[in-house]
Amino acid sequence: MEKTKKNQTAPGNGQISKKKANEANTQRLDSIAKGYKRILEDLGEDVNREGLARTPVRVAKSLRFLTEGYHLDPAELLRSAMFQEDHKHMVIIKDIEVYSLCEHHMLPFFGKAHVAYIPNGYIVGLSKIPRVVDAFARRLQVQERLTDQIKDCIQDTLNPLGVAVVIEAKHLCMLMRGIQKQNSVATTSSFTGEFLKDTTRSEFINLLSSQIS
Ligand code: ZN
Repeated sequence: MEKTKKNQTAPGNGQISKKKANEANTQRLDSIAKGYKRILEDLGEDVNREGLARTPVRVAKSLRFLTEGYHLDPAELLRSAMFQEDHKHMVIIKDIEVYSLCEHHMLPFFGKAHVAYIPNGYIVGLSKIPRVVDAFARRLQVQERLTDQIKDCIQDTLNPLGVAVVIEAKHLCMLMRGIQKQNSVATTSSFTGEFLKDTTRSEFINLLSSQIS
């Protein structure tokens, strides 16, 4: 009885907007796939050969995943797991894998991010920091801005005594084309508060190089 009643109920606003969002999403994917089909043709490829037949759709889906950060709210991710805690020492999360796309060539850059903060009444669930990194990395980016955005988001949301972000990354646009320097790594850093002091920053750098045996 309950079930029948439920089925007869008209869809609520939430369901309608979800349906609309799904339709818009499908349209966007379609449009991106069409664009890639044309690109393949312009490259001189036979878009009907077996290996390429579904490539435009696959690329569209993959690109959508690699840029899903546009649809995420990194500050909200942090706010969802903030806890009051009287801990005043440095918290570091090292070696967070980073995969992003450079906005100049839309080629990947990838490497590691190291993030630290000094709590000021609140700590955040440790798994949220890598999620904030992902939310900003999965967009078209430059490494410098990515570094600043992670730092600003943590500073503005958690209001800690200081934030440090270091990113080391290799850029395929440098490795595969252009200057073709196979081993060059770009390092960017951004600091606030306590980390602007030499002693705190040195402690952070020392802890980055220490290993757990
Ligand atoms: Zn590039």
